Amino acid sequence: MSLTGFVEFFQKGKTFRPKKRINEGTLRYSLYKQAQASLNSGINLRDTVKLPPGEELNDWIAVHVVDFFNRINLIYGTVCEFCDSKSCPTMSGGSRYEYLWADGATYKKPTALPAYQYISLLMDWIEERINDESYFPVSSDVPFPKTFGPLCKKILTRLFRVFVHVYIHHFDRIIAISAEAHVNTCYKHFYYFATEFNLIEPKELEPLVEMTKRLCKDIDYSKDPGPRIR
Ligand SMILES: [Zn+2]
Repeated sequence: MSLTGFVEFFQKGKTFRPKKRINEGTLRYSLYKQAQASLNSGINLRDTVKLPPGEELNDWIAVHVVDFFNRINLIYGTVCEFCDSKSCPTMSGGSRYEYLWADGATYKKPTALPAYQYISLLMDWIEERINDESYFPVSSDVPFPKTFGPLCKKILTRLFRVFVHVYIHHFDRIIAISAEAHVNTCYKHFYYFATEFNLIEPKELEPLVEMTKRLCKDIDYSKDPGPRIR
């Protein structure tokens, strides 16, 4: 499944919110294009997430965080009309997991919210940060802030919760529009990326651990060279 196909597929539907663009002509734009090209080449997804030689890790993480934000936004956009305070009164992942929202501003204490509201606040919170040049510098001459790593961990940890909610509560809708292969590819890419750079704590990944075992079977050739021909 090519990434271009994936994006075109979801652009037919309505978008939850506008897409964040990576400015054309910048170094990071060429890195973004490079990452897309390798995804489209059909090579092992686990390999496509590895940092290309000579590239800066923060640049690599920045383009992926923006890309995952856009793609998860599109995925949620396809189910959001089925996600309201009646269908999903809490931000849950089955009966075992419930997420509470806190942002240190409007919600100082962790607060139970309907999933739609939680995801809306979560996306706003991420959007604000990826559009803020003091967090995500646009020019590659401007250094990343020291807080960039922890911030990206928090962004990806929160984005993962959208996957949890969509997979556990709205996968019927994804199947109804034949989007499961697209969503699974996006999930695998996200999972390989986050685990390659330890950006999400293992306990946060628990709600989807069984599904991940079934889905994420691409072999890591850098760790396992596989059978050799003698
Ligand atoms: Zn829902």
